[in-house]
Amino acid sequence: MVKINDNYNRLEGSYLFSTIAKKVGAYTKEHPDKRIIRLGIGDVTRPLPAAVIKALHLAVDEMADESTFKGYAPDKGYDFLRHAICENDFRQRGCDIDEDEIFVSDGAKPDSGNIQEIFSSDSSVAVCDPVYPVYVDSNVMAGRKISYLPCTAENGFKPQIPDREYDMIYICSPNNPTGCALTEYELQQWVDYAAGCGAVIIFDAAYEAYISEDGVPHSIYECRGARECAVELRSFSKNAGFTGLRLGYAVVPKELVRGGISLNSLWARRHATKYNGAPYIVQRAGEAVYSAEGKQQVRQLVDYYMENASYILSGLTKAGFEAFGGVNSPYVWMATPDGMSSWEFFDMLLERAGVVGTPGVGFGACGEGYFRLTSFGNSENTKEAVDRIVSLMA
Ligand code: PLP
Repeated sequence: MVKINDNYNRLEGSYLFSTIAKKVGAYTKEHPDKRIIRLGIGDVTRPLPAAVIKALHLAVDEMADESTFKGYAPDKGYDFLRHAICENDFRQRGCDIDEDEIFVSDGAKPDSGNIQEIFSSDSSVAVCDPVYPVYVDSNVMAGRKISYLPCTAENGFKPQIPDREYDMIYICSPNNPTGCALTEYELQQWVDYAAGCGAVIIFDAAYEAYISEDGVPHSIYECRGARECAVELRSFSKNAGFTGLRLGYAVVPKELVRGGISLNSLWARRHATKYNGAPYIVQRAGEAVYSAEGKQQVRQLVDYYMENASYILSGLTKAGFEAFGGVNSPYVWMATPDGMSSWEFFDMLLERAGVVGTPGVGFGACGEGYFRLTSFGNSENTKEAVDRIVSLMA
């Protein structure tokens, strides 16, 4: 009889969002008259930028015409998109990234889950705590043990360089869930560490568009030596609203070589074997994100959410809460008041303020005593939610 991959039995239940949904469902059933405001889920709510919609329509028309119809896309992505990515996301920032080093995909979640496949199953892995759960679960599925780098108020929610060597290190900056971002100096220390011990950093820059402060790197390749030790993952989800359209990419530099093998060619092999290319119409939509019109509209989208983030952060801070993030990120990470646990605070906000957030402990043990609020809602609801929290706690 076939045996299942026993590593799946080692996965911790992913009860977070289903428990939230159950609790909210039960509450709405009992109080059908109460209006719930959701600042829990990390999904965008604003429509796609007009330039993206226009590009989608044009591309759909091309698919309807025999002379312009497209079948399978090149598995690494169309040249027009990889060129726009290199130019805009890297060269204009002084980072030397070549088209051949870009692998277009259907998002940063699949890439962050899949990239571990090219490393040996006995590689040691370090992730931050709290953490985006995909990094943990994908490595557990592959049979690896995970070490956690605590990110707490004491270290500004930033992972500290460990005193032992790891093979793979996942860094997400700006961070989900804490909303904190590493400075250039801090990220450079990680690059130096990885270069020193032969580790590879998987750098998840899904929230890069939200960086508002100088001195916070948009790409790990702004750091010296990163081409030799880092893979970078990017997403069109949170900047341009592609969560439902699906587009992202991985950067694997050619200098990234381990055991004499180029990781660029390993990832190319894996990509060609298991992925059949992002849809043509979606890649054209992605190209439109880099047009002059697209850039301006994406800026407006990000600004809209960042105004929400700023309202959440300042509202909570003025009311005496300890709150972090929200400056280079759409997430605000607040300490629960009066030593309440993350779930106690969740229940209280739901029942007494009709506001839904995400209990920090759902992202790891160090998230206990914290709560994540997102700025991806509409601005009226966001303001009302913050006002409700503040008056409840007053
Ligand atoms: N990486 C991080 C850190 C995220 O928080 C998310 C989504 O919430 C993703 C990746 C997913 O990105 P995508 O929609 O491109 O799969």
